[in-house]
Amino acid sequence: MSEERRLLADRAVADGFRSCYGWLRHVVSSSKGQHNPISYNVEMRALLISTYDLGRQPLGLASPAAWLRRSGVEVDCADTSREMLDEGRIAAASLVGFYLPMHTATRLAGPVIEQVRRANPAARLCAYGLYAPLNAAWLRERGIQHVLGPDAEAELVALAANSQPATVTPTRVPFIQPDRMGLPPLERYASLRMPDGSTRTIGSTDTTRGCKHLCRHCPIVPVYRGRFTAVPVDVVLEDIRAQVRAGARHITFGDPDFFNGPTHARRIVERLSKEFPGVSYDATIKIEHLLKHADLIPLLRNTGCLFVTSAVESVDDTVLERLQKGHTRGDFVRAVTICREAGLTLSPTFIPFTPWTSLEGYVELLDVLNDLGIVEQVAPIQLGIRLLVTAESLLLHLPGIQERVTEFEPASLTWPWRHEDHRVDDLQAAVMRIVKSTSEATRGETFDAISRFAREHAGLPIGTRRPTSVAPVPVVSEPWYCCAEPMETV
Ligand code: SF4
Repeated sequence: MSEERRLLADRAVADGFRSCYGWLRHVVSSSKGQHNPISYNVEMRALLISTYDLGRQPLGLASPAAWLRRSGVEVDCADTSREMLDEGRIAAASLVGFYLPMHTATRLAGPVIEQVRRANPAARLCAYGLYAPLNAAWLRERGIQHVLGPDAEAELVALAANSQPATVTPTRVPFIQPDRMGLPPLERYASLRMPDGSTRTIGSTDTTRGCKHLCRHCPIVPVYRGRFTAVPVDVVLEDIRAQVRAGARHITFGDPDFFNGPTHARRIVERLSKEFPGVSYDATIKIEHLLKHADLIPLLRNTGCLFVTSAVESVDDTVLERLQKGHTRGDFVRAVTICREAGLTLSPTFIPFTPWTSLEGYVELLDVLNDLGIVEQVAPIQLGIRLLVTAESLLLHLPGIQERVTEFEPASLTWPWRHEDHRVDDLQAAVMRIVKSTSEATRGETFDAISRFAREHAGLPIGTRRPTSVAPVPVVSEPWYCCAEPMETV
């Protein structure tokens, strides 16, 4: 978001937030039997569409569905990553909302928007979610009339009432229990493969929205700008309860960072473990927070946490500094030790390929993972991820990036970049090929294949992998990536 747009948004919020927030509270409370000040078209029917949400049943449909249904709007939820969207459902809608929480979802939405426009030219179209404001121009070119942000529940209610949506600052909406009715069942989403070969159905929810950090490559930053807000504990627990009733045996907390509010997190996992002692969970926590709140790590393990994902991104301190990650390679090593001593699995994620990656630096990353004995804890796809420079990315302000990027590419919704040393780009493409061709192999075997290739490519002697001392770890059946995704072409 440009500075000018931010200022405009802030001014609108300052001018209108107080009355708007009161109105929104009224809309929500009206659903509990009080007078509803909005009159809806009796035929109002909203279709909310998710194209991809990291293999999870999309909370970004369930939460607005709850708001809209409480306001008297009929809602249909479609997840095109799990089901076909037939034209009858599209034709029945007067308002269609596309949920765009991430880059991949946004790219996948392009053809679905086209399908909806063809099947129902009269429907009002809106897009919401983190990536909607970042790609507003691209969406408008495709016929989206209303571009909303990530906390769009109230604005969707206003649109359903045929009003212009009021501008509401992110993170200031009252929360109500999400309504997952009509979504594909949890069994159709990613599951957890346990080391003993058994599987667990995964549910997911968020305990916070936004993030208080300002990492330079992160798409959350231009939208939330360091703000986050906690979802009330009772709302979170009620959503978990509903998913456990629907078969979930493991909960993924999808917060950008579970320890943005450590006291809040503590309350939730204590209640989760007390009420559902057999239900496990995982969360994403940044390295900085794992060190700062190391005293909470035993609590995580004791309340059923099976693993913590952490966006380590790099073991090169210069790259970490450029990304403003808030940790160093030494911090990462300390976090691995702390988690290991507490008996908690740490699953780091990486962006190994950046404009600053060297062949030697890539091999060094592999060596660090090998030396730390955490090869089995790293999903192979993480070794092939290439830095995404998305629309509005703060990376574009970095010296050195402008020379590397080419034209903004509408097809990929990114600023493609080329490394100044083409051998690094070649290596990235080769790593992706290896990952694809070894999908049936163990993580260790894939790591060995990548390591062999990378060393030969860099003209370095072939090393040997240290036998890992850690037990096999639970694995989610779909790979995880959020601020980045594998890009095979450069
Ligand atoms: S990368 Fe993680 S910690 Fe950094 S701003 Fe994004 S969500 Fe927050």
